[in-house]
Amino acid sequence: MWLPPGTLACPECHAIVYARYLDGVARRAAALEGEQKWPEARGVWQSALQWLPPGTTQAAAVQGRIDTIDARSKAAEDTKAKWVQRLGPLAPVAFFLLKAKTFLLAIFKFKFLLSFVAFFGLYWAVFGWRFGLGITLSVLIHELGHYVAVRRRGLKADLPVFLPGLGAYVRWYAQGMSLATLAEIALAGPAAGLLAAVGCLAVYRGSPVGPTRDLFGALANVGAWINLFNLIPVFGLDGAQATLALTRLQRVLVLVTSAIFGAITRQWVFGFIAVGMALRVAPIWGRDVPGPPSIRSVQPAAWDGMPGRPSSRTMVGYMLLLFALGGVLALAPEMPR
Ligand SMILES: [Zn+2]
Repeated sequence: MWLPPGTLACPECHAIVYARYLDGVARRAAALEGEQKWPEARGVWQSALQWLPPGTTQAAAVQGRIDTIDARSKAAEDTKAKWVQRLGPLAPVAFFLLKAKTFLLAIFKFKFLLSFVAFFGLYWAVFGWRFGLGITLSVLIHELGHYVAVRRRGLKADLPVFLPGLGAYVRWYAQGMSLATLAEIALAGPAAGLLAAVGCLAVYRGSPVGPTRDLFGALANVGAWINLFNLIPVFGLDGAQATLALTRLQRVLVLVTSAIFGAITRQWVFGFIAVGMALRVAPIWGRDVPGPPSIRSVQPAAWDGMPGRPSSRTMVGYMLLLFALGGVLALAPEMPR
């Protein structure tokens, strides 16, 4: 239909005109926030505001972003003023050092290598170098799954950092992305880990009896287990992020699926996934179920003021991962003691 220029909301259907345009603007602003280019991001949000009818949820959400950026720069100014006071004549030198970004970046790459070696060293000491290296590489492949999924969307991500004895993480910047996208990034880790575990399983099945066969069988088993563990939907594990995109019914379906797989494979990790899902279905945690933002619902941090939509793709992906990882776990031998 034709609309007079300057019309912000379609009078017939109240759909917001320029919705597609605004989608692009929001994406651009979020990307700028990800790069910490605060003044630029503020400008883009500000430009979006003129296309939004005042009083709408969208206008309030955009205004919220602008306010957040303003509060942030004020806090930064305050800290800077405090430090100038404290450091006195040394302040310019200190700020010059702070600005040496290339230096900091080099440290971060260094952190990746250093933590990788520390992680490998620990598992080497406990299990020997071959198994230690295999485990470290399969954790690296899991993390690179997240890394690639983030970078593929043109967003920023740091190289993985390993925490010996615990795991690893990739820090990435995707404020303002939809819940479905965040879930895809979360599930990309276990999906990459699955590929690694399937590769190990193939080598195991194709090798004659001997140490190589034992090694790859154990790597397939432990690799599948680690990635299933990451699908437990609590404590910031990958499953926790993915679950944010699931409705309560979808959560119940994943719960039932993992309970069935647990009964078949007798692997307690499925029990943990089921219990975790039960917690995410129960009313205490049920407030993170996606839907339009309302005053009554408490917004989890991951929503970041952006309305989220449930994603059945996420549910299917979750279930396929449980099925495939459970299959590898069942076909690979337990680790020899
Ligand atoms: Zn992960």
